[in-house]
Amino acid sequence: MLTKAAVVSEKGAPFQIKEVQLEGPRVGEVLIRLVGTGICHTDLIVRDQQFPVQLPAVLGHEGSGVVEKVGEGVTGIEQGDHVVLSYSSCGTCPSCHEGKTYACEHFFQLNFGGKMSDGTSRLKDEEGTLSHLFGQSSFSYYAVINARNVVKVPKDVPLEILGPLGCGIQTGCGAILNKLKPEPGSSVAVFGCGSVGLSSVMAAKVAGCTTIIAVDVYEDRLELAKELGATHTINPKREDALEAIMAITKKGVNYSLETSGVPQVLRQSVDCLAVSGTAAVIGAPPIGTEVSLDVKTIRQERTITGVVEGSGNPQVFIPKLIELYKQGQLPFDKLINFYSLEEINQACEDAEKGICIKPVIKFN
Ligand SMILES: [Zn+2]
Ligand SMILES: [Zn+2]
Repeated sequence: MLTKAAVVSEKGAPFQIKEVQLEGPRVGEVLIRLVGTGICHTDLIVRDQQFPVQLPAVLGHEGSGVVEKVGEGVTGIEQGDHVVLSYSSCGTCPSCHEGKTYACEHFFQLNFGGKMSDGTSRLKDEEGTLSHLFGQSSFSYYAVINARNVVKVPKDVPLEILGPLGCGIQTGCGAILNKLKPEPGSSVAVFGCGSVGLSSVMAAKVAGCTTIIAVDVYEDRLELAKELGATHTINPKREDALEAIMAITKKGVNYSLETSGVPQVLRQSVDCLAVSGTAAVIGAPPIGTEVSLDVKTIRQERTITGVVEGSGNPQVFIPKLIELYKQGQLPFDKLINFYSLEEINQACEDAEKGICIKPVIKFN
């Protein structure tokens, strides 16, 4: 079928809205009519080739939509279902067998390899084959996706806001609720208040953290962080973040999250820990980036851990996040501004300038 999609043709080039040819779903795949799709920082670093997915490509990996057609062998998903689209996993490696799909041994290849899981593409234009992202490519009115990436969601929540649950919000919330699991009454510092960081702030409140410190250079984001549950905010443009955290906590925080991707900030997220504290690293600097640490800091029972997609299995975790949203405990809709597919370059610019926290493309 023909559909309209945002194509990125070369490194750093703007998205071009084009008619593209989309092949129908093969075995184990489904065809989705997109209703909304979030723009994630990962889309931008792939556009700019810091993560080298082969171009030209149709990016987008935070889609939500309606199932239009189900391929052979797909069970549990039907035409008309409302779904959120998440990341790819193989389903057959030891991690996947344990339900730890976020630690799939083939995660990088499946999500950044530019192909569907069978090694082919469903997309082409007049110049040839187009690459996929996350086996999803949701910057498009229609997408074919592996059924494993598809999470069925209830129909009584607005479908156009749900896409970011598939990556950014799942990542921020899961880092707290699945990975760090802070005890009620504990303290956490969140470095970077984009959609991932602010999701962590909301999740920290859900988890019962009583000291939630949000760190960012944008005042309006710090205001929103307060509204969402931060007990303290720090603007590193005005004060030293490490000194400020020590002044608040006296002995450092129990948990920290680094979402900025800036090596010096990662260092701070480790240095601000109390003894036995844990730092979670989420931010994605260019591949090959190195960070130096004071070994003494680590030796005092401190832990540094990476987090992929919030260490959550989307099939289990996304429905929980929707329940929290319905109860008013996770108002992630406050992070969202809507754009049309034609406005995608403006949406990316607004996100990069900090004007918008989570742009979502709304399809009509
Ligand atoms: Zn796997
Ligand atoms: Zn993402």
